[in-house]
Amino acid sequence: MKNMPQHTDIKAAPTVGMISLGCPKALVDSERIITKLRSDGYNLTDGAEGADLVVVNTCGFLDSAKAESLNVIGQAMNENGRVVVTGCMGGEQADEVLAAYPNILAITGAHQYEQVVEAVHEHQPIEHSPYVHITPPEGLRLTPRHYAYLKISEGCNNRCSFCIIPSLRGDLVSRPIHRVLHEAEQLAAAGVKEILVISQDTSAYGVDIKYAESPWKGVRVPAKFYQLCEELGKLGIWVRLHYVYPYPHVDQVIPLMNGGGILPYLDIPFQHASPQVLKNMRRPAHQEKTLARIQKWREICPELVLRSTFIVGFPGETEEDFEFLLQWLREAQIDRAGAFQYEPVKGAKSNALEGQVPDEIKEIRWQRFMEVQEEIMQNKALAKIGQKIECIIDEVGEPAEDGHVGADARSKADAPEIDGTVFLRDAGHLNPGDIVKVKIEEANGSDLYGVPV
Ligand code: SF4
Repeated sequence: MKNMPQHTDIKAAPTVGMISLGCPKALVDSERIITKLRSDGYNLTDGAEGADLVVVNTCGFLDSAKAESLNVIGQAMNENGRVVVTGCMGGEQADEVLAAYPNILAITGAHQYEQVVEAVHEHQPIEHSPYVHITPPEGLRLTPRHYAYLKISEGCNNRCSFCIIPSLRGDLVSRPIHRVLHEAEQLAAAGVKEILVISQDTSAYGVDIKYAESPWKGVRVPAKFYQLCEELGKLGIWVRLHYVYPYPHVDQVIPLMNGGGILPYLDIPFQHASPQVLKNMRRPAHQEKTLARIQKWREICPELVLRSTFIVGFPGETEEDFEFLLQWLREAQIDRAGAFQYEPVKGAKSNALEGQVPDEIKEIRWQRFMEVQEEIMQNKALAKIGQKIECIIDEVGEPAEDGHVGADARSKADAPEIDGTVFLRDAGHLNPGDIVKVKIEEANGSDLYGVPV
């Protein structure tokens, strides 16, 4: 019984008071908030008394409802003093609330459950205990133990003509940087060896919150793409950047990839190269100097790997536009790329564009694109034969009849699921998540074959 926890070992969880005002919709919001807080381990009460922190879900529909909300916030401040405000008055009327009660801990708008819960965690942290919590501090994940996706924002401010994501998910909403970094730290502490940074537009991180600073490890850090990369690079694990648009400030991050924690890998969905097609697509950050920038990036970081996606057969794409794309591809030597044939999506602006490309032409262009790209990838893979490269182990196989054990691994140039695999022999001593040097012996397409050294 020596290892069993005694009651005195288990710290009492903090108590959150929930005061819910307004209509049934607000009530449902409150229910979601308390459900999440309870599953995070907090105790709950229905008032300010005896609580460590109070959440007031306000109503601002009528003047009388506003007055009642302000009154209830005032009472909670008097009785408790530690108040988070949410609901209708946290939106456009937030200034009014802050003018009356400048010392409230945080204020969020209606339906912002995640922000309310994050504000509670921030101002009343709960100590994780495996005896009390049914989920680990880094949350439950569907990925293998050694890698994890880290979402830094939701939504998108761009309006690409073929995409309906902004109308489905809204404009860009960046997470405060300390929350992103805290989650990344928890993932690393839980044994994650590779973080994949994702969003709809990673290099636009922080624009919507005006690069708001947050306290982090004794200093204030702005919510900016560069600082995010810099801090993530200090974790001592692999950090891979996805969905980066080539805005000018991306140049600053390239030096961090030279031996830093940020992998020399950039996933940039270029989608096309022809200026006219990019214009019709209304792509962000498109510019004619991209080839020169890619060359400069490679001079700074010779190991840099570019992965991208392209659309062929976009409305209005002429044979000249397509030839331009193939030539661009040959010059840019994009390390990993896939192409899609353009498909109209219900609600997308591009449906109304003139010059829809017939399906047979799309198919032929797709095949021509893939031929060029596969040759580039094959040559790049062949050039790796004989080199010793660092790989992360994804899966170790069962021993074969002769006792031989193989493993599937990835190099720094390979993101899980979308890029190549490095197939290893003599890998019986390895485990998923191990990072080892591998001597490359063969290549096929973008896959490599080698042996740990
Ligand atoms: S394609 Fe990407 S950048 Fe363009 S609107 Fe959609 S989500 Fe935003």
